[in-house]
Amino acid sequence: MILIKNDMEIEYMRQAGKVVGDTLAKLQEVIKPGITTADLDKIAEEFIAKRGAKPSFKGYHGFPASICTSVNSEVVHGIPSKDRVLQEGDIISIDCGAILNGYHGDAARTFAVGNISKEAEQLINVTREGFFKGIEKAIVGNRLTDISHSIQMYVEGFGYSIVRDYVGHGIGRDMHEAPEVPNFGRPGRGPKLTKGMVLAIEPMVNIGAYQVFVEDNEWTVGTSDNSLSAHYENTVAILENGPEILTLGQ
Ligand code: MG
Ligand code: MG
Repeated sequence: MILIKNDMEIEYMRQAGKVVGDTLAKLQEVIKPGITTADLDKIAEEFIAKRGAKPSFKGYHGFPASICTSVNSEVVHGIPSKDRVLQEGDIISIDCGAILNGYHGDAARTFAVGNISKEAEQLINVTREGFFKGIEKAIVGNRLTDISHSIQMYVEGFGYSIVRDYVGHGIGRDMHEAPEVPNFGRPGRGPKLTKGMVLAIEPMVNIGAYQVFVEDNEWTVGTSDNSLSAHYENTVAILENGPEILTLGQ
């Protein structure tokens, strides 16, 4: 069942979303060669706590950290580690969730570590733009997969592939609510979009094939062909006057 949020709930979610967006902005400032993914996790955890919120991911199905850090060919769910030292030219996808007032915010970005290749830069940009192509369709009266199709058409136009095994989701009091929000598929299907739906829309894009696998640690998802992958996610409220992104931050 899709839980529709009223104005007060959406205001709570704005506040949770702001913590997430601000945390990601903070991390972007400190990402540089030599920092470890465990350092980033600690910075995020402290930042979220200072804002009176809690990390959504810590302990979620046993996940051991506050953020997911996925480097280069890692797609999602990378576990921060003191042994993972970021190198010039890496790209890192950071997924962050926070709960405040009983509501979650969820967002992800892929960041450059120092100077990166033109190829990596384009992947990051296309993944982000794919999200924005998607939310152009996040309009009351459209169907859910209008969003999905719009993302896929844009991203595949660059020869990239969309990850199939992981999708976006509804979000609210639970981090993962109905409906699932695929980043691919035919338009005009799924539930009708209505005012008060809140969706985490999150294209995961590979330079190579769309297939992925789960590493031996049972969390980290990597591309099957070792190609680079990028992720861009925001929590989006569907409102009368169009979509509102709740996790942009400053
Ligand atoms: Mg996320
Ligand atoms: Mg999500």
